[in-house]
Amino acid sequence: MNIILLGPPGAGKGTQAQRLVAERCMVQLPTGDSRRAARTSGTEMGKQVAAVMDRGDLVTDEIVIGLIAEQLDNNPGGAGFIFDGFPRTLAQADALGALLKDKGQKLDAVIEMKVDDDALVSRITGRYTCASCGAVYHDSLRKPKVDGVCDECGGTEFKRRADDNEESLRNRLLAYYRDTSPLIGYYYCKGLLKRVDGIGEIDEVAARISAALAE
Ligand code: AMP
Repeated sequence: MNIILLGPPGAGKGTQAQRLVAERCMVQLPTGDSRRAARTSGTEMGKQVAAVMDRGDLVTDEIVIGLIAEQLDNNPGGAGFIFDGFPRTLAQADALGALLKDKGQKLDAVIEMKVDDDALVSRITGRYTCASCGAVYHDSLRKPKVDGVCDECGGTEFKRRADDNEESLRNRLLAYYRDTSPLIGYYYCKGLLKRVDGIGEIDEVAARISAALAE
């Protein structure tokens, strides 16, 4: 089963994708993470990508589609792919359809995670991750069970994203409403859209996603 998690920054796409990976052995393809890897590569392209991301703008379709095509080629896919943060534009959505078709695969569902804009701001500004395994935490909403120790891997180093600040969040939200939200109609028309309330405990939202996928 190949699925897209669609929603604004802070909707919980990464957190829920990690749950689906753990529970269903699916493969998460988080495009933001590969961009963050590119920025530390030290190449000219990496530096350009870093500047775009820090502003909260979208990286060009050409670069993103190229990276996804590479990831699809290099990955056996397990029980299916979870696209998290991709596609973000109509051109990317068309390209994904074509890439999957080339591999004899298809998209099975698009989960739209709906979260109130005010909640997004507090979610994003308190967010941090484990530096070793990438598990996602929050200053007040999801703390590690033992202070300073990652629940998943025992790591003790944590980091915050450079673009998780109010100014670039405003740009990221703008990019979502301008460029990405038309995908809701696009996938509705293809009969793939499933809407899920993204407000609530992580377990509750995970249960809603499972129910939507079982429909
Ligand atoms: P994310 O981790 O999904 O919030 O993505 C962080 C940043 O990476 C975004 O603000 C964009 O600058 C860039 N990015 C990630 N995915 C895409 C995409 N599909 N298209 C364009 N830019 C992207």
